[in-house]
Amino acid sequence: MNHLPQKDAEHIIFPLIARQRTYAPDDFFRLPVLHGCSGVQLSQKGPSLLPLHEQPAFLQEWLFFALIAVVLNREIDATLFRQYRDGAEVVDTGSIRSLFDECSSASLSSVGGRDWNHRTRAILALEEARKFVLTWCSDRYVYLSTPPEHSESESPTPSRGEGGSGVQFRLQHRELCLSFGIIGETLDRLCARQMEWSPLTDSPEPYGSWEDHITDGRSWGFSNLLRERMIDMGWCRHEVRRISAMTGDLSSLYYISSFAFDPATKQDHSRCVDDRCVQDPWAGFSVHSDNCDGAGGCDRLLPSEEELIRIIDAGDIPLLLFDGDANLILTEYRLGESADGGSISTVGIEERFVAISHAWSDGLGPSDGQGLPICRLAQIRNALRKDPDEPELGDMRFWIDSLCIPRQQNIRNKAIQMMGDIYSRAHTVLVLDSNLRLTPADPSVTSQLEAIIRINTGSWCTRMWTLPEGIEARNVHFEFSDRLLSIKQLRSHYKDVKHNPRHPDHHVYKAGWVFSPSIFILRRWMDGMTSQATTATADSKTIGHLWLSMQWRQTARREDETLCLARILDLDPLPILNCEGAGDELKDERMARFLESMDERIGIPPGMVFLPGPKLPMRGIAWAPRSWMTRRSRDAGAPLLVTDQRPSFLTSRGLLVQYPGVQLHPRRGAPEARCFWIPTASKLRSWLRIRYARDVHGQGEVEWAAAWKTACSGDGLPCIIRSRFDDHDEPEIGLLVQRMGRESSMPGRSRSDVFWVKALCRVWIQVETDSAVVAAHSENFRLHVGSKTWGEALDGDQRWVVDGEHG
Ligand SMILES: [Zn+2]
Ligand SMILES: [Zn+2]
Repeated sequence: MNHLPQKDAEHIIFPLIARQRTYAPDDFFRLPVLHGCSGVQLSQKGPSLLPLHEQPAFLQEWLFFALIAVVLNREIDATLFRQYRDGAEVVDTGSIRSLFDECSSASLSSVGGRDWNHRTRAILALEEARKFVLTWCSDRYVYLSTPPEHSESESPTPSRGEGGSGVQFRLQHRELCLSFGIIGETLDRLCARQMEWSPLTDSPEPYGSWEDHITDGRSWGFSNLLRERMIDMGWCRHEVRRISAMTGDLSSLYYISSFAFDPATKQDHSRCVDDRCVQDPWAGFSVHSDNCDGAGGCDRLLPSEEELIRIIDAGDIPLLLFDGDANLILTEYRLGESADGGSISTVGIEERFVAISHAWSDGLGPSDGQGLPICRLAQIRNALRKDPDEPELGDMRFWIDSLCIPRQQNIRNKAIQMMGDIYSRAHTVLVLDSNLRLTPADPSVTSQLEAIIRINTGSWCTRMWTLPEGIEARNVHFEFSDRLLSIKQLRSHYKDVKHNPRHPDHHVYKAGWVFSPSIFILRRWMDGMTSQATTATADSKTIGHLWLSMQWRQTARREDETLCLARILDLDPLPILNCEGAGDELKDERMARFLESMDERIGIPPGMVFLPGPKLPMRGIAWAPRSWMTRRSRDAGAPLLVTDQRPSFLTSRGLLVQYPGVQLHPRRGAPEARCFWIPTASKLRSWLRIRYARDVHGQGEVEWAAAWKTACSGDGLPCIIRSRFDDHDEPEIGLLVQRMGRESSMPGRSRSDVFWVKALCRVWIQVETDSAVVAAHSENFRLHVGSKTWGEALDGDQRWVVDGEHG
């Protein structure tokens, strides 16, 4: 795939095995027919429709050469892509850019019906290829250590691609599978950017708003080959999992996986696993010697505690200045004065200040009242002087948590309450990350895309507290070894690369997200609130994006998680700060207070009942996850982003939500298998495929059987709550629940219209679209009607009060 850039590694070699001839635009639809099948059948049944020895060459002809021919609407000579490597024939995609250029100018000059036929055919072909690649060539988003035959439960679209030949093909032809994904993405981009018709705009978006017009999603799947390549390049396995979950597409990961792992802190990551890094990211966070150049000495300085308390008590912001004579000067920023002009942007230069955002591991962390060493303060001063475009930053005062938050408890709480205000009023937020200080950012030395990859793989973006700081900031400056780069510069570069197909980084532009689409949406929402001075509260989807943004963050003090959430959602942190206790108990108590505030002020997103565990062990809120930092994939958070969610409210017995569902009439005897089919209409035309979705690595048959048994022993028939309201054939998350007694009912409502339930486990539900499977199950059902589970559909007005196991 040498039309993509690489950094420290050689390109992966892709064998050329297709017949070397010329491929015509209509070959894509003809080739399967010549082999006695259709593209649709191939998507449903997989490569095993063909004799084993013919599979690889056929698929390269079909999904690579014929796909390029149909999308470009011209004949493609396979030898144009041929290169020799150690005597073997390999695929060289270097010429694809010039082919694209020729074809986009041709398509711009053509008009009329012929062009429409071409578009329609190309869109159909891309969609058919994508379905095949997703089902049969993409690795599941699971732990690398999971054996392939056990990979099903965590991914929504497995059962077809699983088992026998599907897995075999993926494992034996990993390079080939990856090349189909990357060429598909490349052709998608050609349609979207160069020909300006996107095959993706009209297709139903899986789980709606994730894309929100910002990106076209992860539509061509995942590749374990790239994740293993990162491990070979020295990356920590946990970081590999995080990055592959956060990266926009295969092409970008192809580029990122060519970077050597070389963090500032030299720690041994060889024993880390997918789910856990064995190294403490805060090891020695108060030690500064690693970064110390000794300049100016290492004596510690701190502002007067008494003066600090006075300023904060008066409701103002304490600011620091470190002058050339090594004096640390404390001044104040009066909120009252600047607020009455209304707009913050009119603040004069002398009133502007910089808020510092750091990862707490560069010797800048809390110092227990000892202050920060002079060498560190000098480093901050030097960093502020590093922006060639904005030299006035060098004279600005700054705010940093480790010096500006006093230790006295009540004042400390007040200072914490003000932090959102501080970051959103700051002229800019300066990011200090020791990993970035290793790299120059001068555009003549380092590409801006590389600079962004350094930001995204550094420690700053993995910390919990840097999330609100990044969301609230009006501008962000990152310190590199030689200069600062601002988010405004990086974004404008990102847009250039995205919209310019001739840019060398164009096909990996998604590696240039400084903020994930979710964080980008949160920033836009926050921006709307501050600029219009409204107090609009977050809606369910905004909270969904917050949940997604928190997944891969971590913090040294886990009990502070809810303070961070409350700050972003603009909820008063005081009830949380007032909780007592320590450790897990304090953490759970704070989460309970946070949920109550969210229920009162904003409303709890009803989709939260579908989130994976572990759950809070408390009655009434045992449906709620104990933490939002659970390293989950986007699929798990999908119910939060569903459109048409109805309002929910908290009751003492659980969360009241409205969702469609299925009431099950379970078969007698043995529990259903982990994957089973049920009819939901009397004529057996509509079948649902239901599959157990585990919460934790290692759960399986035993946990499913136990959940099924409990569900069937309730005070009513077991049910599955569905998370979507629309008709669709995508996999959807559901919740298997046990019916509880109806001894109390909602005031003013008849006793029967609310189902009181206990959530047992998550399941994937999908409408079965394979007519052969439907026919087989219908036949079987008729023969054994007494021993089959069936279901009754419940509509979207069904009310549920959901709780979980509360111990
Ligand atoms: Zn590690
Ligand atoms: Zn020092």
